[in-house]
Amino acid sequence: MLRDRRSMAGGLILSVLMAAASASGQELPPPEKTEVWKPVPATVDPSRHGQAPSDAIVLFDGKDLSEWRGRDGEPGWKVADGAMTVVPGAGNLTTKRGFGDVQLHVEWRTPAEIVGESQGRGNSGVFLMGLYEVQVLDSWQNPTYVNGQAASVYKQHVPLVNASRGPGEWQTYDIIFTAPRFDADGGLESPATVTVLHNGVLVQNHVKLEGPTVFRGAPRYEAHADRLPLMLQDHRNEVSYRNIWIREL
Ligand code: MG
Repeated sequence: MLRDRRSMAGGLILSVLMAAASASGQELPPPEKTEVWKPVPATVDPSRHGQAPSDAIVLFDGKDLSEWRGRDGEPGWKVADGAMTVVPGAGNLTTKRGFGDVQLHVEWRTPAEIVGESQGRGNSGVFLMGLYEVQVLDSWQNPTYVNGQAASVYKQHVPLVNASRGPGEWQTYDIIFTAPRFDADGGLESPATVTVLHNGVLVQNHVKLEGPTVFRGAPRYEAHADRLPLMLQDHRNEVSYRNIWIREL
């Protein structure tokens, strides 16, 4: 009954609007004029929350490091209990494939036992294109410079909030990255941008990167390939990763 009345009221409002439009001499085009039917977006099975959608490349499914390379070839990190863990000193891992614009899902965990402080506590990092770091750090009650805390774009962008879980708990990053574009002469056409959700909370909102991550000094772009391997950092803390998947955009 109520619904009937509402739809009657809706119909009345629509007739009034149409009458007003034709009275003012501005006949609106039929609604079909602004409908888009093609091309139809590809159908993707989104799977369960956090799991890889059907069109994603699974970079780590908990079993092996077949998608990864180590400093000297073989990746020297430990695989156990569905996770891959930094072996301090073994070096960074890079993907065998290169990527440009991507959506990336990564789950990570810092050691349950708190050792060290500031940048020395659960430090690792997700380096997009091997160059642009989204910081991984145990930022639960761990003061450090804020453009170096978890979910910062290291030394460039402070996260909007600290959405960290405690040490030993699994955390998620969902990252949307647009690679920088360079012109034929190697000049910067458009900078890289990144959006990051930390444990589902927006922490970086389409921020512009000033250049590749540097520890000292100011970042500066230099032309590079359209696709480069993703890198995970060995910062000599036993940080673990699992359920890593990526979608090329
Ligand atoms: Mg780091």
